[in-house]
Amino acid sequence: MFIGHFAVALASKKAAPNVSLGTLVLAAQLVDLAWPLFLLFGIEHVRIDPGNTAITPLDFYDYPVTHSLLGAIGWSLILGAIYYAFRHDRRSAFVVGLCVFSHWILDLITHRPDLPLGLGGDSYFGLGLWNSVGWTIALETALYIVGVVLYLRTTERKDRVGFIGFWSLIAVLFAIYMGNIFGPPPPNESSIAILGNAAWLFVIWAYWVDRHRVNKTSEATS
Ligand SMILES: [Zn+2]
Repeated sequence: MFIGHFAVALASKKAAPNVSLGTLVLAAQLVDLAWPLFLLFGIEHVRIDPGNTAITPLDFYDYPVTHSLLGAIGWSLILGAIYYAFRHDRRSAFVVGLCVFSHWILDLITHRPDLPLGLGGDSYFGLGLWNSVGWTIALETALYIVGVVLYLRTTERKDRVGFIGFWSLIAVLFAIYMGNIFGPPPPNESSIAILGNAAWLFVIWAYWVDRHRVNKTSEATS
C-alpha cells in the first residue's frame, strides 16, 4: 500500500487536529521510511521479482525489524512516546502511535503472506489484496479520497501555499502511486534502498503544507 498510508495520515488530522500533517505522515509511513535504511545497512533484504503480486515486482522476503507485528508495536510505542515527551498531549501521542501501527494493518490487507509476527520469522501473514490491480486501486483510492475530505474538513488554507502546496502534494502522491503500479520495475535492489529515502521529501512537504493551513475553529476544540 502506498497512498493508503497517506490517507490514514490525512484522516488522522480530524482525530488529532493539533498534530502537524508532517508528523502524521511520518507516523503512518515510519516503517517504510526506516526500511530503505535497513536495506542499505544490509539488515533487511528485498529482491526484484516481477509478478510477485499483480501490483508489485518486489519480493519482501526479509524485513522483520520494520515489518513484523512485533516491530510495528515497537515503532508505534517509540514514536508515540517521543511525541508525548515533546508535547505532553496524551491524546495526540496516542493518535501518532496508532498511525504508526495502522501501517502494519494496511500492509496485512494488501501484501501476500510475507509479514512476520516476530524477528525470527517462521510464519508469514498477508491477505493478498495486491493480487488484484483493480481492487487495490479501488480500495486505496477510496481511502485516499476519504483522507483528503477529512483533512479539508478539519483545516482551511491560511494562504495560497496552503492551497497549491496541498493539492500538488495530493496530485504528486497519486501520480507516483500510478507510476509504481504501471511503470517498469526498479533496475536493481540497491536503487530501491537509495531512492526509497526520497520519501522523506513527502514528510517535509506535509509539514510545509500544514504550516500554511489552520484548524477550522469548530474542529480544533472537538
Ligand atoms: Zn510497508
